[in-house]
Amino acid sequence: MAVFIHYPWLFPFLATVFGLIVGSFLNVVIHRLPIMMEREWRKECNETFPDCNLDVDNSTYNLSIPRSACPSCHTPIRILDNIPVISWLLLGGKCRQCQCKISARYPLIEALTAVMCLLTALQFGYSTFTIALLFFTFVLIAATFIDLDTMLLPDQLTLPLMWAGISLSLLGISPVSLQDAVIGAIAGYLCLWSVYWGFKLITGKEGMGYGDFKLLAALGAWLGWQYLPMIILLSSVVGLVFGIIQLRMQKKGIDMAFPFGPYLAIAGWVAMLWGSNILNHYYRFLLGV
Ligand SMILES: [Zn+2]
Repeated sequence: MAVFIHYPWLFPFLATVFGLIVGSFLNVVIHRLPIMMEREWRKECNETFPDCNLDVDNSTYNLSIPRSACPSCHTPIRILDNIPVISWLLLGGKCRQCQCKISARYPLIEALTAVMCLLTALQFGYSTFTIALLFFTFVLIAATFIDLDTMLLPDQLTLPLMWAGISLSLLGISPVSLQDAVIGAIAGYLCLWSVYWGFKLITGKEGMGYGDFKLLAALGAWLGWQYLPMIILLSSVVGLVFGIIQLRMQKKGIDMAFPFGPYLAIAGWVAMLWGSNILNHYYRFLLGV
C-alpha cells in the first residue's frame, strides 16, 4: 500500500500495537484453551463410558465468556484496567479491588508478542504474507506457553496452522511453492514420527507427543521442506541448552519429561525470520569467503 511506502515506520508501528492487543487475547487463549479441552474430554468420557461419572461443569466457558476476572477476588476486570502492559504497570502489578498480586507473565507475554510483531514487520515490510506471518507468530506463542504449562500442544492450534501454511502456498501468497509446502508438512510429520517410534522401540519410553509431529508439519508447510533440517538442528540446540539449565535448577533426573514444542516453535520462528540469512552465512563460512 502506498501509505506504507510513504511512511516506512507506519507498518512496524501498527504491527506492534496490533501485537500488544493480540498479546492480551493470547493470555486468555493460553489460560482457557486447555481448560476448554479438559471439559470437552470429561464430557466425551461420560458419554462414551456411562460409568465414568466425571464431574462436568456445564456453565458456558469459552474464549469470550465469562469475562476476564481477578483470579483472587473474581471481580471482572474493567476495560480501562485491561490495557496491555500499561494497566499492569499503572496498577503496580496488583488487582484494583483486592490488591492481590497479578503475575508479571501477562504483561510479559503482551510485550513479547509486540516485539515479535515489530521484528517481523521490520524484517519483511508490508505485504499480505507479512500479515499472515503475524498470525503465524500468534499461534506459535500460544502453543509455546500452553505446552510449557500443560505439556499439551492442542490440535486446535497446530492443525489450522498447518492448513493455513498449505493454503497460503496454494493461493500464491506464501513465497513457498505448493509442492515444497506439502512435502514440508509430510516430511515434518514423518521425521519426528520415526524418531518417536525409534525411541519407543529401543527404550520403551515415549520421548515426545503427537502434538510435536503436527507442529513440525505446520512449520514445514509454512517454510518449505528445505528448512526442516535447520529447524530440527536449532530446536535440538535450544532444547539441550534449556534442558540442561532446567535439570540443574530442578535437580530432577534426566528421565523427567519436558515439552519439546516450545523449542520447535522458537526454532521455527527464528528460521522463518532469519533462516535465509543464517543459510547465507553458513555457505559463506563453508566456502571460506
Ligand atoms: Zn482481586
